[in-house]
Amino acid sequence: MPYFGCHLSATGGYCAMVKTALSIGADTFQFFTRNPRGSKAKAPDPVDAASAVALMEAHHFGPLVAHGPYTMNLCTKEAEARDFAAEVLCDDLRRAAMIPGTLYNFHPGSHVGQGLQAGVSYIAAALEQALSQDLPVTVLLETMAGKGSEIGGTFDELRMILDAVASPRVGICLDTCHMWDGGYDIAQNLDGVLEEFDRIIGLSRLNALHINDSKNPLGSHKDRHACLGEGFIGLEALERVVTHPALCSLPMVLETPNELPGYQKEILTLRAFKIS
Ligand code: FE
Ligand code: FE
Ligand code: ZN
Repeated sequence: MPYFGCHLSATGGYCAMVKTALSIGADTFQFFTRNPRGSKAKAPDPVDAASAVALMEAHHFGPLVAHGPYTMNLCTKEAEARDFAAEVLCDDLRRAAMIPGTLYNFHPGSHVGQGLQAGVSYIAAALEQALSQDLPVTVLLETMAGKGSEIGGTFDELRMILDAVASPRVGICLDTCHMWDGGYDIAQNLDGVLEEFDRIIGLSRLNALHINDSKNPLGSHKDRHACLGEGFIGLEALERVVTHPALCSLPMVLETPNELPGYQKEILTLRAFKIS
């Protein structure tokens, strides 16, 4: 069975998030490691983290997904800003390690005109540095919609990053909205898309999914999430994703435009799907 959850606000700390997750029927969740647009971060409380781990164990939670800030661009142009982003990544992994087994997902970055190869090299260098801390955390590259100079909109681009990093602690988080917007037809051709993923990246590197519908048609490169069944992907296609034998043991996180009651309803919908 997959673990189901949604994106939660991190303001109350880890225990508060676990309790919120329990109240809406979730057994995993995602949270921002810091303000998604800013870069200031309060130090997490180790006592709170330890009680959260106990609570998660008691309720058989799957791995949590920590999401890096959108502003962290490891391949931005200015050397100083790039160094700062790399520092944020190092610091974020230390925070994520307070809950062992946490998956740290982030947007690979935008090369802002420097070219794909240069961007990939910068991302890989930052990952090598952060992963040399040898923490109990796996870093995930999120599949992107391919807006502007965004890296990670194709499996080949993600493969380039994986090839450039020696550490095996790097995996992938598939975002259904991003893949769809990036041109991967998971509605009509899920098996074909997963075969391509397996051939280029390897399904063993897939560690988590973001389950979102999309407000835009296939290949739009837009990245606007819709509630389940209210977008162009549709509920039946998302059911096939969630119940697919290659995917159905992974944490699946909703990032749909919802408040808690909406998330609770969508988690119920996901749990009602028959896993074959
Ligand atoms: Fe994301
Ligand atoms: Fe996402
Ligand atoms: Zn998105």
